[in-house]
Amino acid sequence: MFNKVNSHPFLIAGPCSAETREQVLQTALQLKQLQNEGRLTVDLFRAGVWKPRTRPGAFEGNGIVALPWLREVKQATGFKTTIEVANGHQVYEALKHGVDVLWIGARSTVNPFSVQEIADALRGVDVPVLVKNPVNPDLDLWVGAIERIQNAGVSQIGAIHRGFSAYAKSNFRNAPYWEIPIELRRRMPDLPLICDNSHICGNRKDLREIAQQALDLNYDGLMTEVHPTPDEAWSDAKQQITPAEYSDLLSQLIVRRETTDNPEFLENIEHLRHKIDELDLEMLNLLARRMRVSEDIARYKLRNNIAILQTSRWNEVLEKGFEQGRQRGLQDEFIEKFLSAVHQESIAHQHMVMQTKAG
Ligand code: PEP
Ligand code: MN
Repeated sequence: MFNKVNSHPFLIAGPCSAETREQVLQTALQLKQLQNEGRLTVDLFRAGVWKPRTRPGAFEGNGIVALPWLREVKQATGFKTTIEVANGHQVYEALKHGVDVLWIGARSTVNPFSVQEIADALRGVDVPVLVKNPVNPDLDLWVGAIERIQNAGVSQIGAIHRGFSAYAKSNFRNAPYWEIPIELRRRMPDLPLICDNSHICGNRKDLREIAQQALDLNYDGLMTEVHPTPDEAWSDAKQQITPAEYSDLLSQLIVRRETTDNPEFLENIEHLRHKIDELDLEMLNLLARRMRVSEDIARYKLRNNIAILQTSRWNEVLEKGFEQGRQRGLQDEFIEKFLSAVHQESIAHQHMVMQTKAG
């Protein structure tokens, strides 16, 4: 159900929290009005009823009293609804009140006990479930949560990428680490993937760019927080946008095709990919040659009884690498990862030389 259809991303929109009956209905009716004008389609209306807040004292959701408001949204607009659930009791109440889709929040995905409790409550129900990534950048925890829900017999599951916490200051509220959802895609190619651009950004100005990046990575859909008066929102005020702003944002997005059967395109891409394959092979040959030199160094160090690692030399390699990389348009982050991997392999080769000689 969460798949992109005819290059239309699956769209989930609605406020961070269900604050009052009026606010929930007003958001939904404004979205419905835009939908009637042909400016967007809402596939799923979201609202948080139980809110996991980092620190006590913040608005933690209205709980059960908010559930009938979502039923009213459904009656007034025809939108299907989704809320976050964090335990078996919340699953039971959500289903009792006719919520169509449940989502597991980032703070629950980290905890296998919570996920298992939710999975057990879902056994035999087969309601669609969306699983947000865990707060920490751990792909196995994300996959594990999805597997627990699958094992409960849930057949329609999607993953939501909402970014990952980091201690370091960053422009993002939650760093995207795109490589993690890309690897999830590789491991679970049929699993629909949705980008929660609101919780990645934590602000309004970057929402479009992150949504576009997700679409360019062939995501199936977007989850975006929409509020009639975002500045007055009781939670996540900084990142919410009005329904009209949401519709503008959507109109600026470009949905590209995954592939084509145009023979000219296929021939040209094949040619370019062949070049890439040749360059990759050249790089491997160079790396192999580099390791042979490292082994020579190891033999020489061994004869002179010198240790493998000289930290000052490693710093020098890195510094030089950053500078030369920059001159060639390569980012520091990449240079660090690349040279660290090369250095580790080089140390492993030197260990092998020293062990063989010593033994
Ligand atoms: C939310 O969607 O409002 C929410 C609490 O999300 P997350 O679990 O990603 O923090
Ligand atoms: Mn939120």
